[in-house]
Amino acid sequence: MAVQLPNYQITQLPNNLASPRLPAEITGYYKALVSRWGPQNWWPARSRFEVIVGAYLTQNTNWSNVEKALLNLRRVRLLSVSAMRNVPLAELEILVRPSGYFRQKARNLKTFIAFLDQQYSGSLNRMFAQPTEKLRAELLALNGVGPETADSILLYAGNHPVFVVDAYTRRVLLRHGIISEKTSYEEIRSLIEHAVSSAEAGSLNMRKTGSDPRHASSPMSSASRGELAQHYNELHALIVRLGNHYCRKTAKCEGCPLQPFLKSPQATTAQGA
Ligand code: SF4
Repeated sequence: MAVQLPNYQITQLPNNLASPRLPAEITGYYKALVSRWGPQNWWPARSRFEVIVGAYLTQNTNWSNVEKALLNLRRVRLLSVSAMRNVPLAELEILVRPSGYFRQKARNLKTFIAFLDQQYSGSLNRMFAQPTEKLRAELLALNGVGPETADSILLYAGNHPVFVVDAYTRRVLLRHGIISEKTSYEEIRSLIEHAVSSAEAGSLNMRKTGSDPRHASSPMSSASRGELAQHYNELHALIVRLGNHYCRKTAKCEGCPLQPFLKSPQATTAQGA
């Protein structure tokens, strides 16, 4: 094994996803993406709390809108647990407005602070010291936190080894005939975590990598993390890049780093739009 296995149970995969060829296929995608673009420097943030706020704000919007809201919050020094605790809800709503659904998002951020205060005395250190599975369940129980947000917080703020499945991941796997419309979030997460965590020693340590990062290096993107968390970090970020540039609503397969893996070109127009 190249990397340590996650410290929680991987979901049992249905037969079609348990195919012995799939791990190599998935790691093949990863290698092709790294080879094209290299490390992407996700998550672009100065602190764990900024990642958490960004994970909430990025729901149902694009990153440039999140950046506007984060800029507002930074300008008035609200990107800390204590400042966010004390700011009136109405003021917070105005500041996060550029990210859309601003009333809901402001309320959900306040709910997170209340959870942190009640369960961990306001300490992110204590919160992130919890076992992955326990903390994941607690985050998922909060209003406004679905699996993608919970896993973004765990991976990018807490450096827990959890893969973040997003709409692009689903679209790419669907178009490549690996999953169906019915495949669940947990099944996709398990599929990718199994593929990456069971890769042969050294096989993911690519010497030939691209050098075209999406973001400048930041304190959080360069934070120390385990090997597995680093792979999940990079793979998710690369899939976001892939979805932004090639695997859009209308697929642009020409020149895509994953084009050599595409077995049925018709699938790109018929599925995953
Ligand atoms: S754009 Fe085409 S080749 Fe690239 S990932 Fe999407 S379906 Fe595959």
